[in-house]
Amino acid sequence: MTRSYISRVFRFAPSPNGYLHLGHGFSALLNQEMAMATGGKLLLRIEDIDLERCRPEFEQAILDDLTWLGLAWQQPVRRQSEHFDAYRDALASLQRRGLVYPCFCSRADVVAATSERPDWPRDPDDSPLYPGTCKQLSSAERQRRLKAGQPAAWRLDMAAALKEVHQPIDWREYGGGSEPRRVKAEPALWGDAVLARKDVPASYHIAVVVDDALQGVTDVVRGEDLFMATGLHRLLQILLDLPAPDYHHHELLRDAAGRKLSKSLRAKSLRALRQEGLTPTKLKAQFGLHKRSFAFVP
Ligand code: GLU
Repeated sequence: MTRSYISRVFRFAPSPNGYLHLGHGFSALLNQEMAMATGGKLLLRIEDIDLERCRPEFEQAILDDLTWLGLAWQQPVRRQSEHFDAYRDALASLQRRGLVYPCFCSRADVVAATSERPDWPRDPDDSPLYPGTCKQLSSAERQRRLKAGQPAAWRLDMAAALKEVHQPIDWREYGGGSEPRRVKAEPALWGDAVLARKDVPASYHIAVVVDDALQGVTDVVRGEDLFMATGLHRLLQILLDLPAPDYHHHELLRDAAGRKLSKSLRAKSLRALRQEGLTPTKLKAQFGLHKRSFAFVP
């Protein structure tokens, strides 16, 4: 699919499952700087498909923190929980073409099936690759279980998906250098990834590609922890005939021990730092954003 656009569209896409930390502040401000440098727009997208972990008070805290930071985004705020129908449609298109299959396994089943094999391959996020248990089920058995109401996730049949693609799978990457470069995607590293969870009709991977397309996002600026996931996103974009944005994976902020700041490792929140006297001006100087120059190619 070809794309023409006058203005570049960026997005900052936090998940409301905790408070923002410095790393989020950096990513949000970098998106804003790049939008300004190119005369583009900045969207704010609340990635709240995880209905169990996301909470309205965290969303409010995100809006408060970003306003304090001086982030100016286009209204309205986008929310993934408002797009479940679009995710279902995307999944249905893959179902019709036999590119996904229902999986009745629990996470514990996958671990149990692979834990005896120390050499079992793992995905870039260090989870064991799906051993294909439910891929072996006959279609009659699949139908029987689905009809009986057994909860099912939907997994991409990676081998079938790759057979459908007759073009290079790659992307234009702006991160990590002054010149953009093309990166060869390696979607197979993710194996038969989950595209719709048992409890939600989507997973991060399908929601992000559908939304980036729906919202006309031309530039995805996000942390380098998502670099490898971009390979899978590019495959999904090709399968769903969605445009390819450009990507800029930025460095991650780390703590004194060298660990990336993360909610799970309880990185200090922006709001706690603010109470200790941090100001947006100090933060921007600390990030050195004013010293960066951005070389965009139309
Ligand atoms: N929602 C993701 C996060 O908070 C970001 C996803 C993205 O930018 O593609 O880490």
